[in-house]
Amino acid sequence: MSANLIDGSAIAKTIQEEVRTEVTRLKAEHDLTPGLATVLVGDNPASQTYVRMKQRRCGEVGIHSVGVDLPGDASQGEVEAIVAELNADATIHGILVQLPLPDHLDEERILSAIDLAKDVDGFHPINIGRLAMKGRDPLFAPATPAGIIELLDRIAVPIEGKEAVVLGRSNIVGLPVSMLLLKRNATLTICHSRTQDLPAVVSRADILIAAVGRAEMVKRDWVKPGAVVVDVGINRVDDASAKRGYRLVGDVAFDEVKEVAGWITPVPGGVGPMTIAMLLQNTLKAASRALQDK
Ligand code: NAP
Repeated sequence: MSANLIDGSAIAKTIQEEVRTEVTRLKAEHDLTPGLATVLVGDNPASQTYVRMKQRRCGEVGIHSVGVDLPGDASQGEVEAIVAELNADATIHGILVQLPLPDHLDEERILSAIDLAKDVDGFHPINIGRLAMKGRDPLFAPATPAGIIELLDRIAVPIEGKEAVVLGRSNIVGLPVSMLLLKRNATLTICHSRTQDLPAVVSRADILIAAVGRAEMVKRDWVKPGAVVVDVGINRVDDASAKRGYRLVGDVAFDEVKEVAGWITPVPGGVGPMTIAMLLQNTLKAASRALQDK
């Protein structure tokens, strides 16, 4: 048996097109251009790449984007002052502070300073709190976790009542995607570095989300036949035959797991492209809300 591929690149393109259409309509009917500000502190190359990609995608769908780049030694006060300025700027509907921040900065205080209505990354503690509470909804769900649920919805996989196992409990992926699955009435298990007998726990999953950052850790015999496998991991492994000397692999041993899974995301081309698509969608949502509140 060979799994169906979940084509994140194609699904992300569809979403991007949907956002572009709606942005065009907002401009034509309301003279409103959604705006996203990215705040980058320091010169982490991966963060720089992510921020540039986000800005480029904004341009493609007609979202106005502003990049604020601060040096790696920027003070807490300087970063908070920028956030305050962006909070007050009516042309900016979404603010994204690229994580991770340098160690000397208090991430929680900075994320808490973002206007809740502009928290398009969904990491404000109040949004995360609402995500975790029954009967409450965040204004925005974090992009990567929201993208994972969107992938499941677009391939019409039922979530309610299913056994979902999430590998990883980070604030960025594991925890919020778990909360989203719970909101959709999955029966949820969250695994982490202290989980005992991981293969046995993982093999219960109808829906498996792997977000550990360990190259090809999930093996074929861990996976229940027919399971839906979403691989969030992005790991570099040495590869002398590749131009850059490495290639990217996920947390799932794709070639062997695809033989038993029902559906599987590739790496790259699975979850990755969805993150930016969902950020664009959240920025559009923020602008639409601002219009309603006028
Ligand atoms: P993270 O903050 O390092 O968290 C990793 C989680 O995995 C932790 O909860 C950790 O457990 C758990 N873990 C680590 N080793 C384990 C093991 N051997 N067995 C069981 N659990 C283990 O990572 P992250 O930020 O969530 O990112 C995870 C992966 O997703 C990375 O490869 C990252 O590059 C990728 N990612 C992709 C996207 C995207 O596609 N757009 C976005 C974000 C992240 P403890 O909590 O016990 O330490």
